[in-house]
Amino acid sequence: MFKLNSSITELHRVGKTTASLLKKLGLETIHDLLFYFPFRYDDFSQRIKIAELQADSTANVQGTIELIQNKKSFKRRLYLTEALISDDSGSLKVIWFNQAFLTRTYHSGDKISLAGKISEKYGQLIMISPISEKIYSSQALIHTQGLVANYHLTAKLTQKQIRFLIFQASSLAGQEKDWLPIEIRKKLKLLNLQTALQQIHFPKNTSEIKEAQQCLGFAELFLRQLKAQIIKQELKTKSAWPIKFQEKATQEFVSSLPFQLTNSQRKSAWQILKDLEHQEPMNRLLEGDVGSGKTLVVILAILNVALNKKQAVLMVPTEILAQQHFSSISKLLKKYNFKITLLTHNHPDKNAAKADIIIGTQALIQDKVKFNNLALVVVDEQHRFGVNQRQKIMEIGKNQQLTPHFLSLTATPIPRSLALAIYGDLDLSIIDELPLNRQKTITKVISEKERAQAYNFIRQEIKAGYQAFVVCPVIDPSDKLGTKSVKEEYKKLSTKIFPKLKIGLLHGKLKPLEKEKIMADFLDSKIQILVTTSVIEVGIDVPNATLMLIEGAERFGLAQLHQFRGRISRGSKQSYCFLFPSNEEVLTEKTKTRLQAMEKYHDGFRLAKIDLELRGAGEVYGTDQSGFPELQIASLFDYANIKKAQIEAEKLISQDPELKKFPVLKEKLQEWGKSIHLE
Ligand code: ADP
Ligand code: MG
Repeated sequence: MFKLNSSITELHRVGKTTASLLKKLGLETIHDLLFYFPFRYDDFSQRIKIAELQADSTANVQGTIELIQNKKSFKRRLYLTEALISDDSGSLKVIWFNQAFLTRTYHSGDKISLAGKISEKYGQLIMISPISEKIYSSQALIHTQGLVANYHLTAKLTQKQIRFLIFQASSLAGQEKDWLPIEIRKKLKLLNLQTALQQIHFPKNTSEIKEAQQCLGFAELFLRQLKAQIIKQELKTKSAWPIKFQEKATQEFVSSLPFQLTNSQRKSAWQILKDLEHQEPMNRLLEGDVGSGKTLVVILAILNVALNKKQAVLMVPTEILAQQHFSSISKLLKKYNFKITLLTHNHPDKNAAKADIIIGTQALIQDKVKFNNLALVVVDEQHRFGVNQRQKIMEIGKNQQLTPHFLSLTATPIPRSLALAIYGDLDLSIIDELPLNRQKTITKVISEKERAQAYNFIRQEIKAGYQAFVVCPVIDPSDKLGTKSVKEEYKKLSTKIFPKLKIGLLHGKLKPLEKEKIMADFLDSKIQILVTTSVIEVGIDVPNATLMLIEGAERFGLAQLHQFRGRISRGSKQSYCFLFPSNEEVLTEKTKTRLQAMEKYHDGFRLAKIDLELRGAGEVYGTDQSGFPELQIASLFDYANIKKAQIEAEKLISQDPELKKFPVLKEKLQEWGKSIHLE
């Protein structure tokens, strides 16, 4: 029998390949599975007799297989599996595409349960590619009946697979230790953790989901707050190098720039430079929407540190971004002759500890570089780092007598009050205006009919010297009909649509050096159109790129689309973002409204909120939720819960700073964050 800390491989149907895919999601033990929360539920609670089915409804149908067979469709190069299912009221045709293996699982005479949308074709009702499972008298239906949980997955794993594993794991939910102090749980009327874990994966009704989310959401926010309070206390006991403000040199540098700083940039820089003068280590968050010019504020801080003959580190989440910061900072600070170095997996530097300014990725923490003079650590796009990694970042320079000052950057445009509650330990600087020269990106949802016209427009703009991004949801062609992959799109654009233009392909699976080359070529305008996955989401700054075309736009969260769009509109030229749905069928009223919000609004927080309202809680967090703090289950918009967690955490820490009376909580706090990984 397996235990909570048993490896996933002890479960049924987990071989090596599956285990390594699960590991990518941070899932290695039974316990990890229990804490892998769904982001959405399908409602298949309506079990309907075949005779009563209606087109366009979503239903659960149960019946006997009369007939099942595979066919090959030459025209569309597809395998079709056709079946006829009947219950005592009538029979229904069902088809699946490219799932020929089904005929090995299901046979005539089997009882089967199906869930999905009912469509109408040639006057006949039909179910297309429903979810299915065999009915056994001894076993509950977990995929096709009731409220069925959906999880964020990587390619090659299926919802059914993970659900089946979590179902097995759920028998051990009762053994999880509840870390919430019992007084708090009682006071806030929360479920116990064990029940909440059961209900979040296999709820009987929507109120069970709500109760579970309430409990698990609070628990998560509470841990976060506790951690924040503990860090805050720890930093108070330490000291840092006071960095003297080099007023004259700073002013000279600022006036040498080709533009004026915005007021917000000025104010934030001033707050940071003031903090740096103190002996108490700075712990500050610089928040500003994409394109608001955070890098420049950081450069001012770094300049002052270097002029004080101390070292500064800039940590970024991706290799591409490190490259880019390295070259732009080297250029801007050229005349000072500082020793600036790049430290990534691709560019190891044994002498990094001797440089004045070090720009790097997580290789910096893995290589355990020992600095002697490190006075400032800046973390760009901090929401991209897991909690655990952030903790390791806080440990850079731990060997020194003095602690570095810390500055984190985020593009999450959350309002001040909320940011203070979420990042309880940090002081806050906000850049709430864009540089004056900016124009809002003109954004348009484009239907298939208008595609050619959009391509023409792009051709013209490129002729005029501008560049374009084409973003696709996946790398490889997938089974799902209509999901655009970068590889197919690259081929199509470079051979059929724009054969005369220079087109590049960028995605996460390329070798690091290839990626570098492509990015460099794009920056040099040697590539005119860059076909890419979401790897360009963070930080990249190519002011000459003013066009973006997003394929399968409905598959992204609005906050993420907003981040993508932040890659263009970086100069004074008017920029354009075209949103293409995967196909006409996905463009329901709701999806249309969602995407049209992108046409109207240019504020990331507002867009995330609209997304939440339209898609329902749950879908906004998780991998879709880029730009926001990685909340597994709590909602960023649940201000009341966030506030409660803050109050309870502060109270607990003031009563028992070392959590002596709460060993389970203490243990949880140490392990927490392990499951949150980088891309
Ligand atoms: P982000 O806040 O998203 O990190 P960046 O720091 O990359 O934004 O800045 C985006 C672009 O705006 C850069 O090309 C930068 O040189 C430019 N920029 C920064 N500040 C200003 C300003 N005050 N006026 C005009 N352009 C600016
Ligand atoms: Mg940036």
